Amino acid sequence: MTIYNFSAGPAVLPKSVLTQARDEMLDWHGSGMSIMEMSHRGKEFTAIAQQTEADLRELLAIPDNYKVLFLQGGATAQFAMIPMNLLRGKASADYIDTGIWSEKAIKEARRYSTVNVAASSADKAYTYAPAFADWQLNSDAAYVHYTPNETIGGVEFHRIPDTGDVPLVADMSSNILSKPIDVSRFGLIYAGAQKNIGPAGLTIVIVREDLMGQVLSGTPTLYDYKVQADNHSMYNTPPTYAMYIAGLVFQLLKREGGLATMEQANIAKAKLLYDYLDSSDFYHNPVAPENRSRMNVPFTLSNPALDAAFLQGAQQQGLLQLKGHALVGGMRASMYNAMPFEGVQALVDYMQDFVIKQG
Ligand SMILES: *Cc1c(COP(=O)(O)O)cnc(C)c1O
Repeated sequence: MTIYNFSAGPAVLPKSVLTQARDEMLDWHGSGMSIMEMSHRGKEFTAIAQQTEADLRELLAIPDNYKVLFLQGGATAQFAMIPMNLLRGKASADYIDTGIWSEKAIKEARRYSTVNVAASSADKAYTYAPAFADWQLNSDAAYVHYTPNETIGGVEFHRIPDTGDVPLVADMSSNILSKPIDVSRFGLIYAGAQKNIGPAGLTIVIVREDLMGQVLSGTPTLYDYKVQADNHSMYNTPPTYAMYIAGLVFQLLKREGGLATMEQANIAKAKLLYDYLDSSDFYHNPVAPENRSRMNVPFTLSNPALDAAFLQGAQQQGLLQLKGHALVGGMRASMYNAMPFEGVQALVDYMQDFVIKQG
């Protein structure tokens, strides 16, 4: 039976990447060592790290005046590192509140600065993305933080806001690499790897050089972007194995045609599932159609008493990890780059069968 894994994260990885990692597990390229056993400063791993960064730069067309950092601590550590590094003497930062992840970012930022919530969709249970025209931005803010894709609510901004001279900061944990983006529109982009990149333990930060070097007093050395950049993310030991797997994913994405190809595939998968959800009275997605996420699709059954049977039947068909986030309930299908179209087709087929069986 073919298995399709709809986990929100840690999430499905390309089979070919896992196979290659298996083949190289005990002896990487004749070195006699596993990647896990190598010095991060040795010539083998240095080559891997450099190639990994070069491939990510190529995929995202990252301009030269941006640093790429390979860190640990997840997106959650960035919730603190961002104010520590980017306040740069300013008193406040603007945050857009669109769901559980932006709420967490706001809560952490409040420990270090005044937070101005410039727009929020809490009034409608986080089921839409506030229009840019309604954002009450402060021109003196240190930065504007938003979450382009809310992984739990399934809400995605499909355009990039214009914040003028105020640096734009984006938590792209769950939609980075799902489409081409213009990196020059951002001051900083960050993403935990375990959604659409690779294994947990690696966090990628892409930061404009001029924003670094003015940390809040008391900031741990390890949390200073400039220290990390000056040391090529090797001030201490980086997550070497996770970087290696991410590097294999980047090479695969390049071979498959890059992010424009990914975007077309992601649009097709999302259309298939949303069209079916909209055609059915049995299933429901609560998100405003123009803000629906291509990556994470929450949906409910009209009769929640059938949830357990739905999930059990799905599991028997090899459709795994469809249970929604504990905070919102229902179901969630995450469809990152590594989810093939056939997986979404199998899910829709199962959903149709389930309706028939329930009469
Ligand atoms: C998963 C997720 C996080 C948290 O990531 P950790 O790596 O667990 O810290 C933050 N933001 C978004 C948008 C996420 O999807």
